[in-house]
Amino acid sequence: MELFAGIEAGGTKFVCAVGQSSGRVEKKITIPTTKPEETIPKVVEFFKEIHKKTPISAIGIASFGPVDPDPESSHFGYITTTPKLAWSYFDFAGTMGNALNVPVGFDTDVNGAALGEHRWGQGQGLRTFLYITVGTGIGAGGMMDGKLMHGLIHPEMGHMFIPQDIEHDPFSGVCPFHDNCLEGLASGPSLMKRWGVESALDLPEDHKAWDLEAHYLALALANLVLCISPQRIIMGGGVMKQKNLLSLIRPKVQSILNDYVKHDSIIKDIDNYIVVPGLGDESGICGALALAEKSYQESLLSIVN
Ligand code: ADP
Ligand code: ZN
Repeated sequence: MELFAGIEAGGTKFVCAVGQSSGRVEKKITIPTTKPEETIPKVVEFFKEIHKKTPISAIGIASFGPVDPDPESSHFGYITTTPKLAWSYFDFAGTMGNALNVPVGFDTDVNGAALGEHRWGQGQGLRTFLYITVGTGIGAGGMMDGKLMHGLIHPEMGHMFIPQDIEHDPFSGVCPFHDNCLEGLASGPSLMKRWGVESALDLPEDHKAWDLEAHYLALALANLVLCISPQRIIMGGGVMKQKNLLSLIRPKVQSILNDYVKHDSIIKDIDNYIVVPGLGDESGICGALALAEKSYQESLLSIVN
């Protein structure tokens, strides 16, 4: 059995873990995200200690972004123009690959989570599906016809523009780039700012915030159903832990789509169409291990060829 290393790199913390190809996390630590000079040596030390006793075959990185996931690019494996300036143009894949001298798999945090769900969670057996996180930011990744989604760079579905009724909701959003994007209107920080609370957790279940939140998320999901035709939508992240949110979103998606997309998954079986992650909070870190395994297999193939 090969041993793989994974990093789920988030804006506040790095989750680092090792595991085998069964996807079971065997050892895990959490390191605060400060600046590369501080965070990375701790990450490297954790893996090197393990590597000395049991060789690690490859490492997978599922990172906050924007990142460059294009293997043909000179900046492949870099975090690029992030507002977290200390990490701007940090050569993440190169640094980790050199430190451990193993193949590196690299992708966005949300594509990583999607891959984890595809291997072991709610994406199993699906060719086209989405993984969306609603937390401090909103991001989405997924697979299109069996491949993780990439393009010019990678999709930024969390910043899609959302129709906003300014009279009903005059809030100007929290995204520094856009007035009415999804992240600006529906992320955790937007809930906090719009309703004047310290945490979205402080909003009671029956607060009107949740109906509006569900409305914006449902508009986004309806757009995604129309653009991508996913076989399933998996919704994770801190804000989705609000118990009733998913059941508020589902009928709104149905009503916005208005029976236009004629498939039983949406019309009759929406509870099984818009779902929570099968791996709970571990989709991202398990996905990082799956990225490691994928890069290991690719490296074996390139030796054969
Ligand atoms: P991050 O996006 O930083 O990785 P999370 O996905 O945990 O982290 O999202 C954090 C956000 O989720 C915060 O804005 C927090 O207020 C919100 N949150 C966490 N738990 C809940 C909950 N039970 N109900 C509603 N919002 C929550
Ligand atoms: Zn935006």
